[in-house]
Amino acid sequence: MIQSSRVSDELRRVRRRMVERLQHDGLREPRVLAALEAIPRHWLVPEALRAQAYKDAALPIGGGQTISAPSTVAAMTEALQLRGDELVLEVGTGSGYQAAVLGVLAERVISIERLPRLAAEARRALDRLGVRNVVVHLGDGSLGRPNDAPYDAIVLTAGAPAVPEPLLAQLKPGGRLVAPVGPRDGQRLVRIRRQADDKFTREVLGPCRFVDLVGRHGWAA
Ligand code: SAM
Repeated sequence: MIQSSRVSDELRRVRRRMVERLQHDGLREPRVLAALEAIPRHWLVPEALRAQAYKDAALPIGGGQTISAPSTVAAMTEALQLRGDELVLEVGTGSGYQAAVLGVLAERVISIERLPRLAAEARRALDRLGVRNVVVHLGDGSLGRPNDAPYDAIVLTAGAPAVPEPLLAQLKPGGRLVAPVGPRDGQRLVRIRRQADDKFTREVLGPCRFVDLVGRHGWAA
């Protein structure tokens, strides 16, 4: 018991140092940094990789997929500009890490994963973390989820050849969509805003590299 509380104190310190490094590297949004400090990433990576959980690196989670690096999760979350009262759609649940971070910062999160094993594991991990405002659905997230639309914010955590049209249609006026878009060997992170007059504006935030978005409006399996 004493030993396990020492371990969790040490992990909290390691997590704090990870957040300080992100801050040093330019991530400034205090709510996002606090959310990263609050979520124990070591519970969302495979047991064999737990010692590496607080390195700023993507790690394999099985099925050829990865949990994104903390700096990537922080940058994408920051780009969504959440205030706390939003309904957010995430495409690509993976480990559930980004979903858990979004759960701290938004009112409700709908997350879609296409691989059954990852969806089941993410649900279990989020349950274990006590995250109650994130729902994980199994399916092709390139189609979005019209039943719960429209969304204040949408984030794709897999690289798409182009922004899927159904996702643009499911974004609220004033909403933001953040996605890696471009060829399979390297994308650009883009932020799209739907204006009040239903026009879309597009900003390029920088280069990135993600696993494929596989689906009707993504890459072929
Ligand atoms: N957000 C994740 C996290 O925090 O661990 C990282 C996601 S990983 C880089 C990308 C995920 O997108 C993979 O789990 C992959 O199976 C999933 N994916 C790819 N295409 C998808 C689709 N059409 N619909 C839903 N999930 C998809």
